[in-house]
Amino acid sequence: MRYLISFLTIISSLSAMERQPNIVLIFTDDQGYEDLGCFGSPLIKTPHLDRMAAEGRKFTSFYSANSVCSPSRAALLTGCYPTRVNVPGVLFPRHDTGLNPDEITIANLLKGQGYATACFGKWHLGHKPSLLPTAQGFDHYFGIPYSNDMTIDPEATLSNDIVFRAGMSKERIASLEKHPKNWVPLMRNKEVVEYPADQTTLTKRYTEEALTFIEENKAKPFFLYMPQTMPHIPLFASEAFRGQSARGLYGDTIEEIDWSVGQILQALKKHGVDEDTLVIFTSDNGPWKLNRGRGGSAYPLRGYKFSTYEGGMRVPCLMRWPGKIPPGTVTDTLAASIDLLPTFAKLAGTTQPSDRVIDGRDIWPIMSGAPDSRPSHDYYYFYKGQRLVAVRHGDWKLHIQGKQGTRKHSVELYHLGEDIGETTNLADQHSEMVKRLSERMHTFDEQLKRKARPVGKHNEG
Ligand code: MG
Repeated sequence: MRYLISFLTIISSLSAMERQPNIVLIFTDDQGYEDLGCFGSPLIKTPHLDRMAAEGRKFTSFYSANSVCSPSRAALLTGCYPTRVNVPGVLFPRHDTGLNPDEITIANLLKGQGYATACFGKWHLGHKPSLLPTAQGFDHYFGIPYSNDMTIDPEATLSNDIVFRAGMSKERIASLEKHPKNWVPLMRNKEVVEYPADQTTLTKRYTEEALTFIEENKAKPFFLYMPQTMPHIPLFASEAFRGQSARGLYGDTIEEIDWSVGQILQALKKHGVDEDTLVIFTSDNGPWKLNRGRGGSAYPLRGYKFSTYEGGMRVPCLMRWPGKIPPGTVTDTLAASIDLLPTFAKLAGTTQPSDRVIDGRDIWPIMSGAPDSRPSHDYYYFYKGQRLVAVRHGDWKLHIQGKQGTRKHSVELYHLGEDIGETTNLADQHSEMVKRLSERMHTFDEQLKRKARPVGKHNEG
């Protein structure tokens, strides 16, 4: 009997040791599918990310839910298509809307499970006080509230300790009729702490915040969300990285992000939580199309940011969790950023919200390399604003652009298995498939819009 009791004690303490994992989610901005060593970049050097791939799993059919910033982030954090949560397009400093605080974000969900939560980087889901990360489940926020090519909202709350640069002052902000582009505020929680933000140091400062957060929270589960400002244009790298990459300034910014990832992985080891931490690296959408190779590369995919061709929405993705995710493996099974919320819910010992539709699916079988794991979506949908314009089903992808009967109407069908670059339109040869997929699109879009939820409006109270 005594032996049985001590055996049971060991069993129960073992399961108690199965602690909830820490989750680090690194989300770059406008990084192309090819722009990582382990995804084939011939010039950009990413040794830390390549090591992360060698120690983890590489996803080659991983999709963001939109080809631009705000909707992609809304989807990532809610597990829903952006149209469902009514963040269909890019938010600007003039807007007083954002992700509805009634939505349950990954941060809300994990906080409810006892996690410490932080967001260090670019938010872009509403910059007014009632829409910022601290109103959406994050304990801490440090970063820029929207894209780095925007301006300041003169109504933003300035901290008493604000650092002004480039001759700016409270009075100048209030009196300027037109605020300079590419000058964005740097915020801590709900206040602007620096204006204009010194963009050359952002990657470095986000990393420092992350290292402090990891150290302070190593004893409990934590969720660290790092939506990097780079490589969205205008591009900036710190002195140590500027001029170093063979791929120009674009490469410099990614090599600095690679350094940042290296620092975080090292900190997890140093604090003894490496094996308790799931780290995910991915991008919000495809690269800018710029002349003379200044933009990123989505090779071998077609299209760029703003496009629902693969290059606009299929993004590089790596996942690492020692002992849980099989090292050095690659999966081409379809998975998407909307799947992270349901998956994290399960890993944290809870379930996804049941009082609303969640579009994502638990992808733990794909992440853990379970044999025969299926694509997370039999039909994966591509929205442009409020318009549903494409669907992927297995290897087939159908695009329908423009209204029927207009000159802009086009129907394109590609077989991604044989034609990843979407070069040969097979619509005429496979009219049955076109019919079947277009009916699916129609039905899904109607269902989604019937159950769409309202955008968030800033609430002064
Ligand atoms: Mg983006």
